[in-house]
Amino acid sequence: MPDEEIPVLIIGGSLVGLTTAMLLGHHGVRSLSVERHAGTAIHPRAGHFQLRTMETIRQMGLEDRVRTKSLETYSATGGIIAVESLAGRELATYVKELNEGVEGFSPTVRVFINQDALEPILRERAIELGATVRNRAEVVAIEQDDDGATATIRDLDSGAESSVRAHYEGRQLRFELSCEPDLTVHLDPDLFWRVFENLLDNAARFAPRRGRCAVSVRRDEAGLEIAVGNDGPPVPAPERERIFGRFYQVEARRAAARANRGLGLYFCKLAVEAHGGSIGVEERGDLGTVFVIRIPEPAGP
Ligand SMILES: Cc1cc2nc3c(=O)[nH]c(=O)nc-3n(C[C@H](O)[C@H](O)[C@H](O)COP(=O)(O)OP(=O)(O)OC[C@H]3O[C@@H](n4cnc5c(N)ncnc54)[C@H](O)[C@@H]3O)c2cc1C
Repeated sequence: MPDEEIPVLIIGGSLVGLTTAMLLGHHGVRSLSVERHAGTAIHPRAGHFQLRTMETIRQMGLEDRVRTKSLETYSATGGIIAVESLAGRELATYVKELNEGVEGFSPTVRVFINQDALEPILRERAIELGATVRNRAEVVAIEQDDDGATATIRDLDSGAESSVRAHYEGRQLRFELSCEPDLTVHLDPDLFWRVFENLLDNAARFAPRRGRCAVSVRRDEAGLEIAVGNDGPPVPAPERERIFGRFYQVEARRAAARANRGLGLYFCKLAVEAHGGSIGVEERGDLGTVFVIRIPEPAGP
């Protein structure tokens, strides 16, 4: 019998280990990160974080914190150059201005921040989302079988060894997208990025194991229709209006702190209404819960 069981064991609690723990926590998967160092990185490694990394950080609700932290050390419009010495001649310019040429590609920006400044932020969020991070502990052996892996962990202070069984079972969801290949829509990309993020997150969270999540985007004479659903249980009729309410969202966010669920449907409603549209929840065929956005469009020429 192992001393401990956990869905996912992460060896290393640095940039990648902490990010993995945070993202797993965001998806409701518990993890244990084992890190031989006493804490997060002490050296200012790394420094230049690209748009995709910042999008992930933004998705975790950390963008403002990371950008603010970055400004303690760097200019938001800095670049990368080679110099003879700090007071010497400039030898080469590698990056003139960090975000030059990428404006508009993403709702966020590239950022300079060092690993020792970033890791504590990731660690804190990972723990908030339910991850366990164990420092001064080392994985000294690992055995894998068909159902999982068993690791031996040594406590570096006491020397005591214990075993951890990791046996993650994926939920095996199926995602389907139905959209005409050349369909063009005119929506605020920043707002609708978050709308999709919220709706897909909900669809995946509340789908049953081996369930189905479906997204469809189509246009007819009434305008644009976007539907995001899953084959989970339907939202009870009395809840269908209330789930878009501000109060409901506040309650859901409180629950999120405990159960790691962020609905954000109030935000979706505001974003859709800002486009003159409406959002509702329906049952469609075998899809128990389908969020349907309708945005009227002026008749074509
Ligand atoms: C000088 C320098 C500059 C860099 N600049 C950039 C940059 O500008 N941008 C960028 O994106 N990247 C940069 N990098 C790279 C970046 O630092 C690494 O890609 C990043 O640290 C990798 O993260 P990681 O979590 O995979 O590995 P690491 O940071 O190496 O962490 C692995 C962790 O696992 C722990 N560990 C390993 N084995 C065990 C075990 N058996 N049990 C318990 N714990 C264990 C280690 O103690 C360590 O803390 C730079 C690196 C250096 C050295």
